Amino acid sequence: MDALEHINCPICERNETEELFSKDALSVVVCKRCSLRYVNPRINRETLEDGYIETYYPPDKVERIHTDSMEWLQMTERLSELEKHRQDKGRLLDVGCGIGTFLDLAREGGWEPYGVDPSKSGITFAQEIHKLDVQCGEVFDANFPTAYFDAITLYHVLEHIPALNPLLSELRRVLKPQTGTLVIEVPNGEGLQSRLQKADWPYVHPRDHLYYFSARSLPKLLRKHGFQDVTLGKPRRVSPTVGMGFALRQAATAALVRFHLGTVIRVYAS
Ligand SMILES: [Zn+2]
Repeated sequence: MDALEHINCPICERNETEELFSKDALSVVVCKRCSLRYVNPRINRETLEDGYIETYYPPDKVERIHTDSMEWLQMTERLSELEKHRQDKGRLLDVGCGIGTFLDLAREGGWEPYGVDPSKSGITFAQEIHKLDVQCGEVFDANFPTAYFDAITLYHVLEHIPALNPLLSELRRVLKPQTGTLVIEVPNGEGLQSRLQKADWPYVHPRDHLYYFSARSLPKLLRKHGFQDVTLGKPRRVSPTVGMGFALRQAATAALVRFHLGTVIRVYAS
């Protein structure tokens, strides 16, 4: 039996919520003040233990991800939007860098790559195959200097982090003030799919997806940590095969993203 802990809303620091639904014997609630959806009570995890993390990159999966064209297309799409967003390159930190695909592409594009990931197998692959200088662990373990990075990216990381506020403070510290760009992509807890499917939405996974952010709640969390300029990105659908069907799906995705109803949300903050 897992130990449960009750938390206050990480944005408001209050506990004024109502329950939306439950799944896997855990409740997802919404904060009445800031609209953040989160799991409460949740499984008490001081840190993300090894067993849980290693399920992300078992050896056979690592090779499969590395050779999957979708992985490369998705990372290319992420990098190209970041580069549209800001002209100059520099030091880029990818938090939750996994097997290093994104950093490998970024380095090719002229960035100086840095990465951290709690997965030992992911990091080993990034070091050995991509020859990246990345570290196993959390951002705190790396002890980066203050105002060091031009860009910091977190793709599908934030929804897993038990202690959100200490992480965001640390990211604010190591990112260059004014000129630095923070990029966060998470599942959209108020997207169309989430609204229609509720507890059945595949991203609802209360044991380790602790928050269901939205275009309303995520900017509030970032402003709390001193990010003044927060804008929403337009993540595009990618596919290894292009044709009429894909073109239609891509157009549908773009329309949903415009109204903040896409499956994921991506924000740029500085
Ligand atoms: Zn709140």
